[in-house]
Amino acid sequence: MADTVLTSTSIEGLPKIAEGKVRDLYEVDSKTLLFVATDRISAYDVIMDNGVPSKGTLLTLLSAHWFKLLPTLVPDLRTHFLSLSLPSTIPESQRSFLQSRSMQVCRLKVFPLEAIVRGYITGSAWKEYQRSGTVHTIPIPPGLKECEAFPQGPIYTPSTKAEAGQNDQNISKGEAAEIVGPKYAQRIEELALNLYKAARDYAVERGIIIADTKFEFGLDEDTDEVVLVDEVLTPDSSRFWPADEYEVGHDQKSYDKQYLRNWLTKEGLKGKQNVAMPEDVVKGTAAKYREAFEKLTGQKWVEAIEGK
Ligand code: ATP
Ligand code: MG
Repeated sequence: MADTVLTSTSIEGLPKIAEGKVRDLYEVDSKTLLFVATDRISAYDVIMDNGVPSKGTLLTLLSAHWFKLLPTLVPDLRTHFLSLSLPSTIPESQRSFLQSRSMQVCRLKVFPLEAIVRGYITGSAWKEYQRSGTVHTIPIPPGLKECEAFPQGPIYTPSTKAEAGQNDQNISKGEAAEIVGPKYAQRIEELALNLYKAARDYAVERGIIIADTKFEFGLDEDTDEVVLVDEVLTPDSSRFWPADEYEVGHDQKSYDKQYLRNWLTKEGLKGKQNVAMPEDVVKGTAAKYREAFEKLTGQKWVEAIEGK
């Protein structure tokens, strides 16, 4: 498959119901969505003008890997994943660009929360800790070094899911309970922490430290179950560090958007609109994502996209 870049989609005969920063959502029927990952990339909540070749395919195949694996590791987990196959109604001419970057999922009411779990102190959490000795207002013991694991184990730090153009806001567990109700808030926290721990243990054996990640959940109103939705444990939604180079006391090299974020910061383009990434940033980001994919799935990227 050639390294094409797909930053917008339309499918004949299938209504598009939403466009996220990365994904386009199509209605298959009242209970099913086709979840199409484009090659768009966002950083600091701004979408870049150009995309990263095959990134959408990588995100879809990596999420599918986790959606198949996680229910074997986390008791009573339900996910929205249905299949990587395309609905039979999609015309032949449209199938090749959608194949492997699309998954069919259960259409659910998504809770307006980002269920963030942090295992290691870095990024905005490190900045807050240096300022106030807290992370997300939770007191943290003194003396932690940058990128050290939290001594009390992973912490749950929810945020709101902002509307387009707005930034997500950190909220307390109490505020999360006010937004979704205490019963669902508790289940979301429990699932997020259990998912993080299972994924962390799986990934570290394969050479990757999952420093932090974001999950989203939806509600199956027929069964009252909290269901794992969206993408899961990808370099878009997580910080992945190479385990063999891990060292506390400084920032880590990473297999995720950090490469792009560093370039934006260096160029003074952080948060600016209409930014096109230069070729080396595109290539560097693509290479990082592929390394993460290969380590986590044990599959060679070229073989994965040829469907072997
Ligand atoms: P970001 O992930 O960077 O915050 P985004 O929220 O715009 O950006 P995308 O990944 O581009 O996200 O789009 C996916 C959208 O689909 C999100 O709004 C997500 O909440 C929603 N979604 C995920 N799973 C489901 C589902 N099973 N049913 C309905 N909507 C879903
Ligand atoms: Mg998303």
